Amino acid sequence: MRTLHFGDIRVDRLVEVEGPSFFPAFMLPDSTPQALAAQRDWIEPHFFDPHSGRFIQSVHAYVVRTRHHTILIDTCIGNDKERPSTKPWHRMQTPWLDNLKAIGVAPEAVDFVLCTHLHVDHIGWNTRLVNGRWAPTFANAKYLFCRQEYEFWASGQASPEGRSGAADGSFQDSVLPVMEAGQALLVEGDHAIDDNLRLEPTPGHSPGHVCLHLRAGGGQAVFSGDLMHHPVQCAHPEWNSRFCHDLAASRAQRIGFVERHADSRAIILAAHFAAPTAGRIVANGQRCKFQV
Ligand SMILES: [Zn+2]
Repeated sequence: MRTLHFGDIRVDRLVEVEGPSFFPAFMLPDSTPQALAAQRDWIEPHFFDPHSGRFIQSVHAYVVRTRHHTILIDTCIGNDKERPSTKPWHRMQTPWLDNLKAIGVAPEAVDFVLCTHLHVDHIGWNTRLVNGRWAPTFANAKYLFCRQEYEFWASGQASPEGRSGAADGSFQDSVLPVMEAGQALLVEGDHAIDDNLRLEPTPGHSPGHVCLHLRAGGGQAVFSGDLMHHPVQCAHPEWNSRFCHDLAASRAQRIGFVERHADSRAIILAAHFAAPTAGRIVANGQRCKFQV
């Protein structure tokens, strides 16, 4: 994805990992090979790898720079984290933080960090290992967590291997240290960061999942987190992912989202859509598709 501009706001995508990932039947248990085959003409080549039969996905953050603030949306998996249930993420090492500096953002210059939800692949770089302890990576930032989401994870009701996604202690090493440092801001699901950026509550995939809407310079974008994991869900919004928490709510959120944004001007910026990532939801016969 090239840099997007909305008035004087600039949006960059910062990739941590990208490539062939899950098999469709694993990632989207509601999908069928026949229904998937009907969408092959547009999910290839960017989002489906015909050689391996796997989806192509990514884990990335977005960096939003306004005239006043630098905002980081979803902080990926992180380095050095103990993630034994997901081998490629276990004690992972990537140059993600150096890449952030390379696009001109020093960690101490980040004003806000927004986690659309508190799953393991959206909070990792919240902290980094400093002298054997997890410390906030962005020393001057306020970290925005939706109150409902924070309280769910803090209450311990999430089963470690359940539908909430493999947590592997990520709340303890990537959220609690931020809270203890006094840098967390628990916000309601409709919180406005400024005149151009406001949250929308979209609970379902997780109990306090939020999207972030950007409106500026006559343009609009929606950072949709994990409301959809794969572009094919624009055609089949009824398909939940294996990681969805409340299946009925997740499905209803996604169906409503696709209806609202179909053939609109909004650019959809999801958390795991592979390059070129940015696109719009457009009508495609009886269904919709994702147009990069
Ligand atoms: Zn995710």
